[in-house]
Amino acid sequence: MKPHQKKTAIVIGAGIVGLASAKALASKGYHVTVYERHPQPVGASVRNFGMIWPVGQPAGEAYAWAIRSRDTWKEVCTQAGIWHEQTGSLHLAYDEAELAVMEEYATIYGGERACGMLTPEQASAKSPAANPNGLKGALWSAEEVIVDPREAIVKLAGYLETRYGVAFKWNTCVNRIAESTVYFGSGQFQQADFIAVCSGADFETLYPDAYSALPITKCKLQMMRLAAQPDNWRIGPPLCGGLSLLHYGAFQAAPSLPALREKVGRELGEYLQLGIHVMASQHGNGELTIGDSHEYGPAPDPFDRQHINGLIIDYLMRFTRFKNYRLASSWNGVYAKMTNGKNHLLLQQDDNVVVLNALGGAGMTLSFGLAEHIYVEQIL
Ligand SMILES: Cc1cc2nc3c(=O)[nH]c(=O)nc-3n(C[C@H](O)[C@H](O)[C@H](O)COP(=O)(O)OP(=O)(O)OC[C@H]3O[C@@H](n4cnc5c(N)ncnc54)[C@H](O)[C@@H]3O)c2cc1C
Repeated sequence: MKPHQKKTAIVIGAGIVGLASAKALASKGYHVTVYERHPQPVGASVRNFGMIWPVGQPAGEAYAWAIRSRDTWKEVCTQAGIWHEQTGSLHLAYDEAELAVMEEYATIYGGERACGMLTPEQASAKSPAANPNGLKGALWSAEEVIVDPREAIVKLAGYLETRYGVAFKWNTCVNRIAESTVYFGSGQFQQADFIAVCSGADFETLYPDAYSALPITKCKLQMMRLAAQPDNWRIGPPLCGGLSLLHYGAFQAAPSLPALREKVGRELGEYLQLGIHVMASQHGNGELTIGDSHEYGPAPDPFDRQHINGLIIDYLMRFTRFKNYRLASSWNGVYAKMTNGKNHLLLQQDDNVVVLNALGGAGMTLSFGLAEHIYVEQIL
């Protein structure tokens, strides 16, 4: 390579993990090309809530990456004209077991995180959509940011193109990687100094043997969107019911969590079985994203179950008071997830090829911070 030539990098996959990788590599001085097999991103990264969610992350590097990502999201969204809002978040407690976990969270993390307990009146003041009937208290966190993933991921790719000169090869499935070269189509190829494979829930196409030996699985989630609320009515922060306390790693530090899990198991066993916890986030256009369920396995059921959507809506009605519950759309999303408790997979396949994947349910929250950490501070 001549001294004045830029080093080159190829990223495979235009989901948030690939885009965050492209941004980190471009910031490091690489000329980056992103290969995406679809004409636009259609994977987990456009199917999620758009929640940048530090509140759910356990203490340590995961929380640090979440805050770093959140700050990068804010900067990128401002520069790229992507709707975003630092709404914070509200977890609503309707029984003593939920309240105990939230109070413990506030005590454990209150010194280092912008969070604390609210009375029912204070919670209602934060969100007119919180159901006040039977509300015992709420956990408020000021850190969370919401984007609309359908808008944000597409615009993020455009931003990387114009701001960092990242080249995008859409409609191009990479079918093999060997010795610094990616192959696509029938025998076409491109070489690069560095290759990052960020192919999300598709582990079958590239490195199938490596994947088959790993503690990794797929997770399918059912989701819904409610039509825009009338008269530009805003719910304020995203709202979560007590089931979310069982879902996010940060709450595992609360000593009362096993008691809550036991109670939910007795009273709402099917919710636990189907991995349902219920959250709602509102986007700039007034629509509300609602979800979700979690079903694990290598071949997710292609068919959604109305019964699961019904359970989600039933639980949603316990803690929300929206003006409009009209369903606008429903879908499912699938992500890759480690089964050994790790929050991502980083595989060095060759001197200059890495696989970054399996960020589970936190890809929007962790990707920017993780990518900056891995590429800028660790590998390159
Ligand atoms: C329903 C749902 C809700 C969620 N909610 C949140 C949330 O609110 N907050 C949060 O932090 N996280 C959330 N997540 C998790 C988050 O969406 C994922 O962690 C993240 O989107 C994964 O990104 P990815 O880039 O790995 O995968 P993807 O977005 O699936 O992208 C992978 C891309 O690689 C492409 N690709 C694969 N193989 C090839 C190939 N051989 N050649 C070319 N291209 C290829 C695919 O076409 C795809 O576009 C949610 C996930 C789901 C499904």
